[in-house]
Amino acid sequence: MKRILKIAALVVVVVVLVVAIPLASALLGRKSADDGVEVNGVRIVKDGIVTLGVVPTSENTVALIDAGNDKAGAAIMTELSRRNLGPDAVSAIFITHGHPDHTGAIAMFPKAEVISLDREAALVEGREGAHGPLTRLFPVSPTGIKVTRPLQDGETVTVGQIPIRVFAVPGHTAGSAAYLVNEVLFLGDAADVGRSGDVQGAPWIFSDSQSEDRASLVALEKRLSAEAVPVKALVFAHSGVLNTGLAPLTSFAKANQ
Ligand SMILES: [Zn+2]
Repeated sequence: MKRILKIAALVVVVVVLVVAIPLASALLGRKSADDGVEVNGVRIVKDGIVTLGVVPTSENTVALIDAGNDKAGAAIMTELSRRNLGPDAVSAIFITHGHPDHTGAIAMFPKAEVISLDREAALVEGREGAHGPLTRLFPVSPTGIKVTRPLQDGETVTVGQIPIRVFAVPGHTAGSAAYLVNEVLFLGDAADVGRSGDVQGAPWIFSDSQSEDRASLVALEKRLSAEAVPVKALVFAHSGVLNTGLAPLTSFAKANQ
């Protein structure tokens, strides 16, 4: 009986993943994600329902911001081929958070350091589950992924010549991270963009705490503004790129203070 219940729960999760996520995206009024957009040399690659970042770090190495949904990493491989590179060229993967649509192809890049906030490592590795209304239904089991470099909020990691700074933005998950590289700010699933270009917080159904997520976005905007950190573009994992500096996040922060 227990086994049947488990299988039934799994079927529900699969149906939700296949049907509800695209449906929710449409209903939530998100902007659609972009493929192949480049800002300051950082390229956005679309992998089905999600995007990831490809950051050239030397002539023959790249870093990834997230690893997509596809376990085979087909979209990433195509992008590497376009650069005459293979999977070994990926020297670091920065994970925004541990949901499986952001960690899919990590196993395809054995030479890469796997980097996340320390607080997120348990979710990435499958030692802990997520706590959102829907995500708590995901089965918890080891993912086979090992975070080789756990980070603390505010740290900067230099890959090749390229500094990449991490900011904790808990809420969507407990250890969600934003990454800033070449003035491009990757927000993962901590935020989305509406069709009119307005920044929105993470959808509650997929998030551990919607209120914490919003507070994190407000705090991040304050921090970047106070330090006068140059930001050229905002990247949202499920809803594309805004190429208008920090301003859209500032508007969000003002409306949610
Ligand atoms: Zn997520």
